[in-house]
Amino acid sequence: MSAHAIVKNVQFDVDLEEQSAELDRRIFDMQALLKSVEAIHNELHLESLSRLLLAMARERTLVGQAAILLHDEQEGVVKVHVSHGLGDDVKDVCFPAQDGILWRLLLAGEAFSIMDRRGEPRFQETFEQHGLGALNGLTWVPLVMPNKVVGVLSLGPSRRRVSQEDMVFLGHLASQAAVAMNTAKLYESIQIARKDLDRSLHKLSMLFDVTRALGAVQDLTRLLRMILERAIESVDAEKGSLMLLDEPSDQLVIRVVYGLPDKEVERKINDGEIQCTRFGRGEGVAGKVLESGTPVRVNNVEDDKGFVKREGSQQVRSILCVPLKVEQETIGVINITNRKGGGAFGQEDEEILGALANQAAVAIARTRLYEAAITDGLTGLFVRRFAVHRLNEEVKRARRYGSELSMIMCDIDHFKRVNDTWGHQAGDEVIIAASACLKAEMREDIDVAGRYGGEEFMLILPATSGRDAAVAAERLRAAIEATVVDIGGGKTLSKTMSFGVAQLGADETSESLIGRADEALYASKEGGRNCVTLAAAWNSDGEPENLSADTAKVEAMINETLGGGEMTAPEPPPE
Ligand code: GH3
Ligand code: MG
Ligand code: MG
Repeated sequence: MSAHAIVKNVQFDVDLEEQSAELDRRIFDMQALLKSVEAIHNELHLESLSRLLLAMARERTLVGQAAILLHDEQEGVVKVHVSHGLGDDVKDVCFPAQDGILWRLLLAGEAFSIMDRRGEPRFQETFEQHGLGALNGLTWVPLVMPNKVVGVLSLGPSRRRVSQEDMVFLGHLASQAAVAMNTAKLYESIQIARKDLDRSLHKLSMLFDVTRALGAVQDLTRLLRMILERAIESVDAEKGSLMLLDEPSDQLVIRVVYGLPDKEVERKINDGEIQCTRFGRGEGVAGKVLESGTPVRVNNVEDDKGFVKREGSQQVRSILCVPLKVEQETIGVINITNRKGGGAFGQEDEEILGALANQAAVAIARTRLYEAAITDGLTGLFVRRFAVHRLNEEVKRARRYGSELSMIMCDIDHFKRVNDTWGHQAGDEVIIAASACLKAEMREDIDVAGRYGGEEFMLILPATSGRDAAVAAERLRAAIEATVVDIGGGKTLSKTMSFGVAQLGADETSESLIGRADEALYASKEGGRNCVTLAAAWNSDGEPENLSADTAKVEAMINETLGGGEMTAPEPPPE
């Protein structure tokens, strides 16, 4: 081989080597680009996407300082979104998105140099006016879609020369990133809008629900329980308590708790078997809310001096406490503790809970008024008007469902003697003890007890036959007889009661039923007191048959049912 040929061959080999190296580089670039593009399009979050692009650009160019600015169309500015190697103060750097040479260069989409040959900014005025020099950029790579500037990648000085290939690579990467960023921006704005909408919808439906539900509850304890459960649910919390202001002591008293780890303790507190700590004005978070009438949010309980550490409060991480206000008066507080799965309570939670508390406070005030109106102050039983109203309802219900219904009228025997001998106060004690005994012996949530007159009571027994009601009356009679009443001054008394029982007849009105029960009671009084009389069954012709019910018959019947026992006790000696 001639020297010439060898040289040529060597030259050829060198060319070949260069070409294959170039090819390798291109293939490598293509692969890198493909990988980057794939990564970019897999990322839906703008922030992560920006960071990813920044990292890729830096890896490629080895620049120490770089930033991505994004076009905020609403504000009409291009603003720093993420940066690397630059101070914290660059995060506020931005320039207006307005037409001019700079804007057109960005729209054109090609990477361009920001500095002129002398090292001076090419857009001196814009740079000075908006502090763009702080970015220390040399090259800007536009992030564009057709006719739309998404943002710009600013690259600072590199440790090595940035080649033409690097710029081509960055150009491809940037145009892919622009599309992904645009999608991410859209996605985020839709997400935010949807979240807002979801929240508002949730808030609205919850409030609507609460208003409707609270309106239907007339029992205060049940109402408070429902309010607390809804409150905890509304802010996705673990537990909470509802406290009401006890006016005489001016202290907050826990009325309901929910979500305690120990269910038995929770039940005891709710049933009033355990008395919890009370909070005075300004005492603890709840006391502060009572004092100020404004919500308090504490997200790191350890840091808050207002939080009074109590037994069991170790598990408290965060508290949201809102007042229950009726016309500027704080009547209680709702205390919510720990968001489920950690995290802090936010402004949004405070607003939702506040709205719920407003509804709840009105419902509480209304229910209290209602309860005061239908409850007898001395005995806690229903007042006569309400008891009769309940009877009317039960009569309608019994008729609709064809079920049985009975009622009992009862009266304390020789009550006048108590008043006359021991005074009115002692009389009151006897009335209180008798009604407590009646209430305790009756079926909770089914039977209804009312104070019909001074020492006369009316009991409604739904879904109960006259015979069963007479058995119940006999049980009550025995319980009353066995009750010892402390009338003060070291004195105790025992009293007896007489009972009249009647079962609702077909087509019978509640007035007629009351009348027949009353007549049966009269018969018991006539028959020697401290006994039960069952009125004869209602005659379907409209007239009750056998008005003077036979006490002896009832006695026999009950003896049979109870398996013996004396029915009519002897007349008690006068006290
Ligand atoms: P009987 O066995 O026939 O029922 O005899 P009684 O003495 O109980 O007679 P009656 O039922 O007619 O007596 C009712 C008395 O109860 C009259 C009234 O002075 C008294 N009274 C009514 N309401 C109250 C009250 O709230 N407190 C007190 N201490 N006494 C009352
Ligand atoms: Mg009496
Ligand atoms: Mg009476």
